[in-house]
Amino acid sequence: MPRIIHYRGKCIGCNICYEMQADMWRMSKKDGKATLLKAKVKKDIYMLEINNEQVELSKRTANACPVKIIKVL
Ligand code: SF4
Repeated sequence: MPRIIHYRGKCIGCNICYEMQADMWRMSKKDGKATLLKAKVKKDIYMLEINNEQVELSKRTANACPVKIIKVL
């Protein structure tokens, strides 16, 4: 199963991931960082399993992240 890993601690809150995949991301009102919805969290690293149809766009989102903290595996 493909997955998205988000190293949330280094997020600069630029909004791009949310603009590209509004169904998967939210910008936190508390700390201004992006949150990967429905993800499992371990030590501020978020992991979400995705289906094959979501891979292409998720990779584009990962590439667009200016601090490269989104990985699609
Ligand atoms: S694109 Fe990257 S830096 Fe920008 S809000 Fe999303 S995770 Fe954070």
